[in-house]
Formats: sequence, C-alpha cells, structure tokens
Amino acid sequence: MPGGVSSPVRAFLAVGGEPPIIARAQGAEIFDTHGRGYVDLVGSWGPLILGHAHPAVIEAVVKAARDGLSFGATCEREVLLAEAVLSRFPWADKVRFVSTGTEAVMSAVRLARGATGRARIVKFDGCYHGHVDGLLVSGGSGLATLGTPASAGVPREYAELTEVLPLDDEPAAEQLFAHKGKEIAAVIIEPLPANSGLLVQRTSFLKKLRELTRAHGALLIFDEVISGLRVAPGGMCERTGITPDIVTLGKIVGGGMPVGAYLAKDELMSHVAPLGPVYQAGTLSGNPVAMAAGLATLSELSKPGVYERLEASAAMLSRGFERALERYDVQASIARVGSILWLSLQPGAPPRSWGAVDQKGAKLYAKIHRHALASGLWMAPSAFEVAFVSLAHADAHIQAATLAFERALALARDEH
Ligand SMILES: *Cc1c(COP(=O)(O)O)cnc(C)c1O
Repeated sequence: MPGGVSSPVRAFLAVGGEPPIIARAQGAEIFDTHGRGYVDLVGSWGPLILGHAHPAVIEAVVKAARDGLSFGATCEREVLLAEAVLSRFPWADKVRFVSTGTEAVMSAVRLARGATGRARIVKFDGCYHGHVDGLLVSGGSGLATLGTPASAGVPREYAELTEVLPLDDEPAAEQLFAHKGKEIAAVIIEPLPANSGLLVQRTSFLKKLRELTRAHGALLIFDEVISGLRVAPGGMCERTGITPDIVTLGKIVGGGMPVGAYLAKDELMSHVAPLGPVYQAGTLSGNPVAMAAGLATLSELSKPGVYERLEASAAMLSRGFERALERYDVQASIARVGSILWLSLQPGAPPRSWGAVDQKGAKLYAKIHRHALASGLWMAPSAFEVAFVSLAHADAHIQAATLAFERALALARDEH
C-alpha cells in the first residue's frame, strides 16, 4: 500500500513516527496490535458520533448481513434511511444514496451543471470536498484566483473550470459574480469548514453566498459531509437557517459504513437519472448493510438530549485543553462548534480563512502529537485536522484526554 495506508491522511508524514496498526476499537477507545489503548479524538475522521462499535449499530449490521449483503434493488432499510435523512432536512424532497462523500460531491456538481447548463464551479480556499478532479484545486492568495490543480493527474483545462475564492470575504465573491455570474453553475462550500482547521464562517457571509447565487441563477451546494447530522440534526442548514439548493452528506450518515448522499428539492432531483438526463449510478449504492448502520446511528441520534450531551462533553474537553494551554503559556486557542474542535496554534482568536492560518504551528503540533500518542491520546496526525467528540466520551475519557494533552505540552516544551 503506498505509504502503508489506504488514505493519505492516515500516514504520519506530517507529524513523524510510525502509525500504530489498529486491531479493534470500543466506545471512546482505540487499541493497536500491541494491545495499547488510546482515547480516540479522531472517530474515523467524523462518522463515529456514537463512538466505536456501538451495540445498536453492530446488532443492526449483523442482522442486515444475515438478510443478504447486496440485492441490486431498492431495499426496505434504504427507504427508512431516506425518510430519516429527509426528516432532518425538511426543505428537501428527495435523496440519492451513493457510497462515499467524494461521490456525493461529484454527483452534486454534475447535477448543478446539468440543471443550469453552465460549467463553472466556485469553491473556497481551505475547503475540502473529497478527491473529485475538479475540486482538487487550490487558489493561493489573491482574489478569485483561477484554479490550478493541487494534484498531479488533474488536467489544467479541467481545473480551469473551478474558481477559487477566499473564505470570509464578501467583496471577493461579489467581484467574481459581477464578472462571471452567468457562467457559474454552483458555489460549493463547507458551511462549517473543518478540513483546514475549523474555520468558522460568519452566518452573514453564508447568507451573502445565498443571495449572490440566487441573483445570478447559480446553485448553492452545502457540503455537509462533516457538519451534517453532527452540529445539529439538520447540520448547518438548521444552525444558520439558510436553505441551499443541494446538500451533500457522508460520514455519519453511514454510521461507519461507506455511505454518501445528496439531497435537494423535487424540481432539481427530477434532473437525475432515471427521471432526467443527469446520469449517476452505483452497483453497491444503498447497500443494505451500510443502510442498516446509518439507520441505527440516526435512530440513536434521535433520542432526547443527545446533542446537548455532545455539547457538554465537547465544552468540557475544550475547557480542559484551554487550561492546559494557559498553564504552559502556549499561544493558542480552541475553535469549537458543537462536538468539533480544533487546536489553533497561533496567537489571537482562531482564524476564519486559510490565508489567516499560521502554518508554522504545525511544528509544535508534531511534537504535541507524538507525546500525546505516547500518553494514550489518539489525535489526528496533522495540525490542520479537527478533533471529534462522540457520545461514548464519558467524563473519565475527557479527563484522561486532558491529562495526556497537558503532559504532551509539558514534554513538547522541554524539548526546546
Ligand atoms: C470527508 C469529506 C469528503 C469526502 O468524503 P469521503 O467519504 O472521504 O469520500 C467530502 N467533503 C467533506 C466536507 C469531507 O469532510
């Protein structure tokens, strides 16, 4: 396997050291092949809002597996998950299941282009939307940079259809729309950007994007692969009161199994095959075992008090980390929305755009990561990835995580 991994973020290239090989995980803890346990703040990068191997999810998966692994036809669990998803996004009429977040985004972009008859896509510097060719584009600094590929293998001609804007910058968006508004099929954004740190956007900025797209006949896509079902049942749509045209989901919607989804109003979804000319398909889409995991996860999430518990645990972790940072006099802060946290290793308030992120913090992070790991705390192997708190994180796990983090800060400081 290139780099010893099936997905590059799992390698420890950014922090150094050899990643442990994982044998199993339970609740808030993950265990390597040497039997060492860690309090897990990665949560499989977002899906595991209930924690690892939640009994209700495992039971549902085992039961579904006994009923058959794949039918190649619509299954009952698929209908139930569609209803459970749409009930959380009441403005949407239809949902299409796919197998990954990348696929959900790729399909949403195709739908936007097919429905508008336009080619150009606008994304934001610092937002990640999976490894879709046209979205593996970064802008660098400056207004409305024309897309250049951020990956080999993406033709320049293709990347040129992607415009990159800075986050948190209304004038840049207005200027782009003034020049190219008629060519833009869609603006895609993580309404809570959580793939380059946690770059919390002002609601007024997201509202501006809603106004601009509407005024110019372009669509607004909220990529809620991380935020959907996590920061509120209806994700950032619910938290901001903004209704986009298409929402993409992934991660939590599959409860740890490979599921992605995109949803929209009837009018838009009528463009999707077999109803319309936008083609999109999948042999294993709506897979019954994966649907069962998503369904069991959403069913647990519909119990009363669940989001309040996540909020309380994440606030406790955040306070613990903040106190540790103060004690060791580290110039840093914690950005947090609900159960998503990010350690911003720079002075002042957490940044709102990728351009405002001081990337020098990564050096200190690498040291903290190494010592935290040795102290039994599993953090993401990158300074710019967020931490996730799950419902399995009890006070004792939060306390253990805080102690390990404090120890890591002390040891990282002594290295100077
Ligand atoms: C993880 C992620 C994706 C890609 O999902 P995969 O399942 O990894 O393909 C897309 N968009 C956002 C916002 C993500 O966080």
